[in-house]
Amino acid sequence: MSPYNQDEMLADNDTSGGNTSGIQSSFGAVESSRPAAPRGALDLPVLRERGQREVFCGLTSIVWLHRKIQDAFFLVVGSRTCAHLIQSAAGVMIFAEPRFATAIIEEKDLAGLADLDVELDRVVGQLLERRPDIRLLFLVGSCPSEVVKLDLTRAAARLSDTCKPGVRVLNYSGSGIETTFTQGEDACLVSLVPGMPATAESDPPSLIVVGALPDIVEDQFKRLFEDLGIGPVRFFPGRRASQMPPVGARTYVLLAQPYLGDTLRALEARKAVHLRAPFPFGAAGTTAWLAAAARVFGVDAARFSQVTDRGAERARRAIAPHRETLQGKSIFFFPDSQIEIPLARFVYEELEMQLTEIGSPYLNRQVLEDELRRLPPDVVLSEGQDVERQLDRCKALRPDLTVCGLGLANPLEAKGLLTKWSIELLFSPVHGYDQAGDVAELFARPIRRRDALKV
Ligand code: SF4
Repeated sequence: MSPYNQDEMLADNDTSGGNTSGIQSSFGAVESSRPAAPRGALDLPVLRERGQREVFCGLTSIVWLHRKIQDAFFLVVGSRTCAHLIQSAAGVMIFAEPRFATAIIEEKDLAGLADLDVELDRVVGQLLERRPDIRLLFLVGSCPSEVVKLDLTRAAARLSDTCKPGVRVLNYSGSGIETTFTQGEDACLVSLVPGMPATAESDPPSLIVVGALPDIVEDQFKRLFEDLGIGPVRFFPGRRASQMPPVGARTYVLLAQPYLGDTLRALEARKAVHLRAPFPFGAAGTTAWLAAAARVFGVDAARFSQVTDRGAERARRAIAPHRETLQGKSIFFFPDSQIEIPLARFVYEELEMQLTEIGSPYLNRQVLEDELRRLPPDVVLSEGQDVERQLDRCKALRPDLTVCGLGLANPLEAKGLLTKWSIELLFSPVHGYDQAGDVAELFARPIRRRDALKV
């Protein structure tokens, strides 16, 4: 059974100028044992809250970005708190040569006793001398640099001029005043977009997969796109600073992460076309995500199922034992990473869990429309946070599993509620067919552990 109206999907996503020959209404059909309302949770009112929130700041995304872009360096311009945050989040060994550091704004800088621009130039000079492998340097703003109004855009332009052609210097903000932790990646990618070359008119249509993916997942998707005959396909960000995909009117964009709304807007401003799709979590999500690209590249239904059926079946088999543990269990999502809604869809459709409240720091309808369509119409959607009120709702509901940030996990466990750290779902490979069983296991593990302790 298809959980969404395929014909409607085809019509909405047909950006190929009508070149959809060979595409049938059964194409990319995704099975789900859950009943689907025609518009799912699309029309549900959203509970919007503005109050105290418990989320990490955008600096956290450096943890996965520095692993992805292997010749980039992230220099946080911030305080000792910022340095502690990324050092402990990344868990870097003392002997490693990490690709991030913090230029600490000292008291004398805050008191105006030092010229911050001169200090920054000095620190960057030392860094580049010591690390000649750096090709791309990000100056990452923080709460302290924003409070003292340090103009990092001007500093990046000045330093780029000094360091060219060997090193490009860009800047973005990871400040907790404005961003939640995954938005750090969004801001980082936005800063890269102006440096992407333009496509030529004679270039064939191309696909950009947007969002930092672990290399192993990127390679799996690369193979699937190749087998489907879709190409050229490029991944953004690339593994090297010089790997900047060209962008233009015949570039299709498939988001791999739901928190990249600003990057999507920046690419659309360069005339790229967004392919609406659910996100590639689980068997059904991955199939629907690949189908969105297959449609515009004219892949026929037979080839699509020949390439994807085996992976989808493998994923379903890997998920099955975890569904036995999780079926019928209730789950509550606190807002943290912005991947809450796609994950909720996955646990609802493929693990048959019962959704209570799904909180997200921001709810971007353009990006999440196909996810919302597949959710049940009786779920509670909330955006933003007033943490005390949300804790009250969670405690009243007493879900079997609560997905939340690190700061809330211990207090909730103390109240007898089982928790799963949402950050684990960001730090682990979770996309695609071959990771579907691992994602399901991340949800099942706390319940199994509790059951084992009971025995
Ligand atoms: S950027 Fe702000 S929220 Fe993040 S660690 Fe630094 S001071 Fe804390």
